[in-house]
Amino acid sequence: MSTSGPAGRRFTIPAPSRAEVGPALAFRIQERDGFECVYCGAIGVTFEVDHVRARAHFPASAPVSAVNSPRNLVTACTDCNQAKGPHELPGFTKLLRHRGVPSQVVTDVARRVRAAVRRRLPSAANS
Ligand SMILES: [Zn+2]
Repeated sequence: MSTSGPAGRRFTIPAPSRAEVGPALAFRIQERDGFECVYCGAIGVTFEVDHVRARAHFPASAPVSAVNSPRNLVTACTDCNQAKGPHELPGFTKLLRHRGVPSQVVTDVARRVRAAVRRRLPSAANS
């Protein structure tokens, strides 16, 4: 006797949600950061929202609210976001030093990121 159940009724348990940062939150993060890349200071370019602690480093059980917390999000230009990739901040600053970025500049980058995530997020409404 078959115990495999009727065909066509199987389903796949969805992977843990890794929700993207929505446009409204992304805008508020950029507003908080003064529409400036926290890594290189670029302005007037296309911005992305960078996860300071990369999403991949969170356990699968971590709630989206923790992964996408404003304290984990900063404004980054496309170049910096791609360069940082899945690195944590210490790994990224190490990478920058290895690539010949002056030590003082790297120190400033780390300081800007830490300052940015501590700033209060502007309120959602404009009123
Ligand atoms: Zn940048």
